[in-house]
Amino acid sequence: MIIVLLGAPGSGKGTQAQMLAKRYNIPHISTGDIFRYNIKNETSLGIEAKMYIDKGLLVPDILTCNIVNDRVQQDDCKNGFILDGFPRTLFQADNLNDWLKINNRKISWVINIDVSDQIVIKRLSGRRMCSNGHIYHMDYNRPKVEGICDECNEKLFIRDDDKPETIKSRLIAYHKITKPLEDYYSKSRLLVNIDGNDTPEAIFDKINLVV
Ligand code: AMP
Repeated sequence: MIIVLLGAPGSGKGTQAQMLAKRYNIPHISTGDIFRYNIKNETSLGIEAKMYIDKGLLVPDILTCNIVNDRVQQDDCKNGFILDGFPRTLFQADNLNDWLKINNRKISWVINIDVSDQIVIKRLSGRRMCSNGHIYHMDYNRPKVEGICDECNEKLFIRDDDKPETIKSRLIAYHKITKPLEDYYSKSRLLVNIDGNDTPEAIFDKINLVV
């Protein structure tokens, strides 16, 4: 099963991807998490990606595609994977299509989680995460111990790109560059729209009626 999760930043893609990966026992591939891991470890990829991420801009396509092409080639992706935050541009979607063709694989569903910009702003500004990518929210999903991840005991932090000015730039990039992918995938009849103005559990239930 290959699932692509589309949606604005803060639409809940990461949370749903984690839940789907657990349920179907396939890897959750988040380009954002891969970039953050590299930023934390100060790799050359991390240093380059950070320049774009901190401004709320997309990381260049070639760099992003190379990372994903390597990752999906690994053994644990044989039975499928969940793509969270990739593709985000038409170039990336074409790159993924090429990989699928060459490897004789098919996307099962493209789930588009639909939320308003107001909800995005509210969600992103209350979001906290740990360095292993587990996500919390100060209003909807608080950790058991303030500031500490329930799953790995790591400290929680606010992502640099969840600061108000950067949220604005990310939303602009989303509407201009990523949203056209809805059309792209609806033409190939893979797109399923899910109303994301709900609790993570209710959204997960709706997704599971489809997959
Ligand atoms: P995310 O955690 O998915 O919101 O990603 C955080 C940031 O990483 C984004 O705001 C982009 O700057 C960058 N990023 C993640 N995925 C991609 C992608 N597919 N293409 C370009 N940049 C990306």
